[in-house]
Amino acid sequence: MKHYLVCGGAGFLGANLVDRLLNEGERVTIVDNLITGLLSNIEEFKSNPNFRFLEHDVRRPLPINDKIDYVLNYACPASPLDYRRYPVETLEVSSVGVKNLLELAKKHQARFFHTSTSEVYGDPLEHPQTEKYWGRVNSYGERSCYDEAKRYAEALIYIYRKDFGVNTGLIRIFNTYGPKMKPFDGRVVSTFIRQALAGKDLTVFGEGRQTRSFCYVDDQIEANLRMIRSDIEGPINIGNPEEFTMLELAEKVLALTGSKSKIIHKPLPEDDPGQRRPDISLAKKELDWEPKVKLKEGLKKTIEWFKRQKSK
Ligand code: NAD
Ligand code: UDP
Repeated sequence: MKHYLVCGGAGFLGANLVDRLLNEGERVTIVDNLITGLLSNIEEFKSNPNFRFLEHDVRRPLPINDKIDYVLNYACPASPLDYRRYPVETLEVSSVGVKNLLELAKKHQARFFHTSTSEVYGDPLEHPQTEKYWGRVNSYGERSCYDEAKRYAEALIYIYRKDFGVNTGLIRIFNTYGPKMKPFDGRVVSTFIRQALAGKDLTVFGEGRQTRSFCYVDDQIEANLRMIRSDIEGPINIGNPEEFTMLELAEKVLALTGSKSKIIHKPLPEDDPGQRRPDISLAKKELDWEPKVKLKEGLKKTIEWFKRQKSK
């Protein structure tokens, strides 16, 4: 049994990963300050003797003395609504916070795994995005607190690997959705499903012609685990390359929920990327991974989960 420290484990992706790890009989300690995570995401784990929850902010050094085999970093507000609500916290968690976690991994000679983002490519001119693309990011704008902190974290990880010999693994996650998303996190999939189920208008930003490529959470977590348990350095893109416009997504959600809601348009937020699709050739080659769940199937599962939460 290995000991996994899952930072940000009460959030959407972290909690899905912890579910998988505990089901496989591993030992897990979650570290989370609950800034955007939910205790309800981890309630079901509390009766498991291999599970521990530590309410702690990773911007402060971690009070961990037991031996750790893996330091996994999911700690960072990830939805545009959340990181604009907590911009300084977002800048700090991916700078001071990541440094603390790298130090911990160094001390324990643990594997350090980090969840970077497609946002390091900004509003890309290269399409689809390969890991070699350096991106087109605004350093002074509405998304900079997230994008630039994530880019800083990548630079820090590079140094800890090259100069201090830490075994690091870096992935760049593209838009992922599924159970354990917060209904009010402002992200497009959770928002459209919540609106459709409540009979409210679906709020498409701009004309809705901007694209995203949506990965179902089970596919994402499978790739994360393969990367975590390897010694691969990355960065590696992890996402589903099937690309949709936001109008197409809204129409799919309406069809799958059978909702009578209307589609309305709201202003497009500043610096909203116009297109995004991962090139996943490297993930296929190095991790022998590709996503299996089609958008329609993943949306159905997510809608069912949202309905169950409403009826609780
Ligand atoms: P989330 O907001 O649901 O989860 C983040 C978790 O980190 C929350 O539980 C939050 O409370 C915790 N956290 C934040 N700051 C902390 C701090 N200082 N100390 C301790 N805990 C802290 O977001 P998510 O969607 O689960 O994203 C997880 C990771 O994946 C993030 O690093 C994010 O940047 C990355 N990512 C996610 C997506 C996606 O589509 N979900 C896409 C790209 C990258
Ligand atoms: N979006 C939208 N309506 C919403 C929320 C988001 O049309 O209610 C759009 C947003 O402008 C962006 C896309 O959906 O183009 C994805 O937004 P999200 O916040 O989920 O993630 P992003 O990829 O922008 O970080």
